Amino acid sequence: MLAWLLLWPGVWQASAAALDPARVGHDVLLLGAATAERTPQRACSAEVLAHHQQLLAVPAPADGWSGEPQAVDVFGVLSGEVRISYGDREICGSMHDARTRDSRFRAGIGMVVVPPAGGREPIMVAWATPLKPRWIPTVELGGPSPVQQNDTARLLVRAACIAVAIALALSALFGYVTAKDRSFLVFVAVCLVFVLWQAVLGGLSGYPEPWLPVDDRASWWLVALTAFTEALLLPILWRLNGGDRLWPGSRGAQQGVLWGLIVVGLCVPWMGLAALGWWAAALETLYLAGCAVCLGVGLWALLRRDRYALAGLSALAPWWVMIIADALHAQWVVAYRIEALQLSATWFLMMSAYALNLRLGRLRQQRDEMRQLADTDALTGLPNRRAGLRLLAEYLQRARQEQQPLAIGFLDIDLFKDINDQFGHDVGDQVLVAVARGLRGAVRNRDDVIRMGGEEFLVLLPGTNRLTALARLESVRQQVVAVRQALAIPGLNVSASIGLAVLRGPSDDLPALLRRADHAMYCAKRAGRNQVYDAEQPAAASDPLMV
Ligand code: GH3
Ligand code: MG
Ligand code: MG
Repeated sequence: MLAWLLLWPGVWQASAAALDPARVGHDVLLLGAATAERTPQRACSAEVLAHHQQLLAVPAPADGWSGEPQAVDVFGVLSGEVRISYGDREICGSMHDARTRDSRFRAGIGMVVVPPAGGREPIMVAWATPLKPRWIPTVELGGPSPVQQNDTARLLVRAACIAVAIALALSALFGYVTAKDRSFLVFVAVCLVFVLWQAVLGGLSGYPEPWLPVDDRASWWLVALTAFTEALLLPILWRLNGGDRLWPGSRGAQQGVLWGLIVVGLCVPWMGLAALGWWAAALETLYLAGCAVCLGVGLWALLRRDRYALAGLSALAPWWVMIIADALHAQWVVAYRIEALQLSATWFLMMSAYALNLRLGRLRQQRDEMRQLADTDALTGLPNRRAGLRLLAEYLQRARQEQQPLAIGFLDIDLFKDINDQFGHDVGDQVLVAVARGLRGAVRNRDDVIRMGGEEFLVLLPGTNRLTALARLESVRQQVVAVRQALAIPGLNVSASIGLAVLRGPSDDLPALLRRADHAMYCAKRAGRNQVYDAEQPAAASDPLMV
């Protein structure tokens, strides 16, 4: 292995050179090849031009252009194509056609022109009427390098948000595999819808190659995906903010919102442009109303000490920052609307994942509590027969594997029926509790005391040989006798008969061990009660596990 690692660079170079010796040297690796292909920049079609009601003339500075290259980058045009022209140069593109735009710009539609020094001709930018009011484009002008850097930073944010959504979907998928809880699958679906929505919103459906069939139907995709996103987002925000817990009857309304919006989304492909604009605005209004309702519900739930609502309120926080900024006409919302929306969506997904983890934690806790209840005897708090037999099977297996001794004591309280008859069941119960406490006190921490049922107990003594087990069970017997002093009930005498059995060898099994202990206990009863009886036969002493 070490030799291979030492040889590794040599192996790599040799195999690379073997692939294409002409192109791979020792100091540089040349990838790609010269192209004869023309960059497929498009001129605007007459149909696109007909839709261009909006026109901006980016004016030259007062003393004319400097003669240096000027970059123009247009952001926030979610639908239709943008035309940038200067003199006889023209570029036409949409957010979703990464291949056909100027290769320097990815987040916006951009072009670099070199106006002659002193020239005053403006750079013209044209676009179609925006689908929704306030969703207006941002045009950035400057040196090619800083404009391109800004463009790349936006692209990184957009791609990172999608990457986070995909990562959350994958981790929820793993969560489903371990927890088998359906809400994880719902969350995976939510993440995937958000991925598609973000891809269309950010123009990444066309990057690096078109991978979603958006084309010139981008507006339709956007509105349909907005409807699907809201269909999932609003009920989840409602639940995260505690709406479900405050009004359990609201499930019907949630289903109504969910399926209503899904139907709207499915109808979108058949809508005309005017109807599309109307629905886009309606969806935005519904979303604002939903955020307002969920905020109210979250605050109300918080007032009622529902701390889980905090996740819902924090999921809402960035949406509210955007809504308020919009109302105040803050410039950054216009300039960075897509990034702000994507970051808000990512934050929402992260908060949902957090809430999902809280839910998983609660489910695990409930499961542990149920398991604990199922394994515990309610009266004495000791492990019950089911848990005890499981423990004994584990000890047995370990004792066999590690060649260690294992002893068990089967304990039955003497004449317990008489105690019940004479002092009543309540005193009988007190005796059982006191005996259980005495038994626990008499054994080591690693030993187990089990209530097998009625007035019968089992003491497990792993790693204990016969003589030590006899001594320990004798002190157990004395503890049972001491219950009389502990309870101080006049006339009450408590004692127990205990049968000892020790693991004989690899062929010995659990039923046989228990049978021997039970038999020894009956021998103790027959011999006069209140004693420890050893079940082992002298013949077993030759066994390697017997001491
Ligand atoms: P022996 O010495 O032969 O074991 O006599 P015993 O009276 O202890 O034996 P038996 O099995 O006849 O009686 C057991 C009694 O334990 C019968 C039942 O009513 C009582 N018992 C079982 N579970 C409980 C319980 O949870 N609480 C109370 N108070 N009594 C119980
Ligand atoms: Mg009994
Ligand atoms: Mg008994």
